[in-house]
Amino acid sequence: MSVPEIGDDDVLVRISACGVCGTDLHYHKGEFLAKWPLVPGHEAAGTIAAIGANVKNVAIGDRVVADPMQPCLTCFHCVRRKTLLCENMTAFGGNVPGGFAEYCRYPARSVHSIEDLPSLQAVLLEPAACAAHGIERMQIEAGSRVLLFGCGPTGILLAQLVKMNGAAHLTIASKGGPKLHLARKLGIADEYLTISDDAPDEQMSTLASLNPHGFDIVVEATGSPWVLESSLEFVRKGGKLVVYGVYDESVKISWSPFRIWEHEITVLASFCSMGHIPHVLEYVKAGRLKLDGIVDMTFRVEEWEECLEVVRQGTVVKAAIVFD
Ligand SMILES: [Zn+2]
Ligand SMILES: [Zn+2]
Repeated sequence: MSVPEIGDDDVLVRISACGVCGTDLHYHKGEFLAKWPLVPGHEAAGTIAAIGANVKNVAIGDRVVADPMQPCLTCFHCVRRKTLLCENMTAFGGNVPGGFAEYCRYPARSVHSIEDLPSLQAVLLEPAACAAHGIERMQIEAGSRVLLFGCGPTGILLAQLVKMNGAAHLTIASKGGPKLHLARKLGIADEYLTISDDAPDEQMSTLASLNPHGFDIVVEATGSPWVLESSLEFVRKGGKLVVYGVYDESVKISWSPFRIWEHEITVLASFCSMGHIPHVLEYVKAGRLKLDGIVDMTFRVEEWEECLEVVRQGTVVKAAIVFD
């Protein structure tokens, strides 16, 4: 790729590292926002290499991360202050070139200074920002019991924010493997339960019998339709079910509307994030968000195919493409 040209309000970022996430698998198949030809990569960290004439918020040499979502600010939803639901979203690494390249152009307003935060931790700020939006959506009441299905990288970040934002008790239920292992090691939940692929029904019944009144909030963060369908059973009367995972567009599930009605259950979703990176950086600066050790495998951009494969297989907690 040639080095992108920048405008007066843009910056050019020399990419150090860019996280690889499940959404990239969808983009790879041309799903979701993908517009080809595409340089993917929406979790980028790097150094400012050039700035446009009007840029004041950062200088050459600053280390930054980029918020990949830019709303149009003029569509039906944008003018109603729902910019995250913009109909003409510019998504760096989704429909315009992103961070899996040596250089990327961003509007200056999209980049945030990270000072000396290591790049392999900085690439987690975008997924953490998505988790911060999830927290806003959930509106956790103080003293809540929360159940989180899945503990991928976003789940691990979300779990930490859940514990700092009202949850008294957090249970993580996930299949075994490196992700659950890391969650335990980081000590981010109060209880951990392995749901294996072989005997999920039995383990789900154990989870139900251990929690006869269910949970105030149940978060489905695995992207598995089967888990999403089962999740409803664990929501306490008056509780909330949060659709957080990314599912295939064609998937359908079945829920009992009677149960949703009788139990006054709120079903809500958290899609992605916009403008949450400064908030997440506050947790990082305060030393309260554990980011170290989540990226456990790095690849050169030439190894993209191999990298996608480990993400697909789930043998990695979090992969990143690195350039230096
Ligand atoms: Zn992502
Ligand atoms: Zn818009």
